[in-house]
Amino acid sequence: MARYTEAVCRICRRENSKLFLKGDRCFANKCSFERHNQAPGQHGSRRGKLSDYGLQLREKQKVKRSYGLLEKQFRSLFEKAERQKGVTGSNLLILLERRLDNIVYRLGFASSRSQARQLVCHGHFLVNGRKVDIPSFLAKNGDVIALREKSHKIVLIQESLETVARRGMPSWLELDKAAFLGRVKDLPAREELSPSFNEQLIVELYSK
Ligand code: SF4
Repeated sequence: MARYTEAVCRICRRENSKLFLKGDRCFANKCSFERHNQAPGQHGSRRGKLSDYGLQLREKQKVKRSYGLLEKQFRSLFEKAERQKGVTGSNLLILLERRLDNIVYRLGFASSRSQARQLVCHGHFLVNGRKVDIPSFLAKNGDVIALREKSHKIVLIQESLETVARRGMPSWLELDKAAFLGRVKDLPAREELSPSFNEQLIVELYSK
């Protein structure tokens, strides 16, 4: 499975935004972005003014890296969003949210998306009663995502569920913590997703 190998806190500093890539550490005062808010590298303190293209590129990188996708995966999701009815930028963000690794993270079974991706790949989850080990699987309205019974005792998952309240539960998902399962109540509307993303810049970038 392809993945980023760069130190993840550098990514937040590069994108000048807290991307919450490191689980509980992101909510503690150890957050590297809060301690050294400058771009990584020797000349990181000098953030120059960006061109229009630079702004579009950085926004795309920010969203792509938040969800831990590589360029090819992100581009192919964008093309899918373009083929759907409605506003392409909003469609893109909704597709990103529907990914199984993201939902596992949002439900609190993992404290970061990268951890969620690993748990999905290792086959710990059932979707509507069937094992799904593909992180890019797109959940739909009414889907039930359950932790397999043999995985209930995994300490990492139990610890993550303990701190789910701190990360917040989206209104379009519901969790039954005691039963180790969650449900997609409704697909999210754009207003329920991160206000810090400017998806229109991504549309402009890919439309060049
Ligand atoms: Fe980003 Fe989390 Fe590292 Fe802070 S602790 S810089 S939010 S990955």
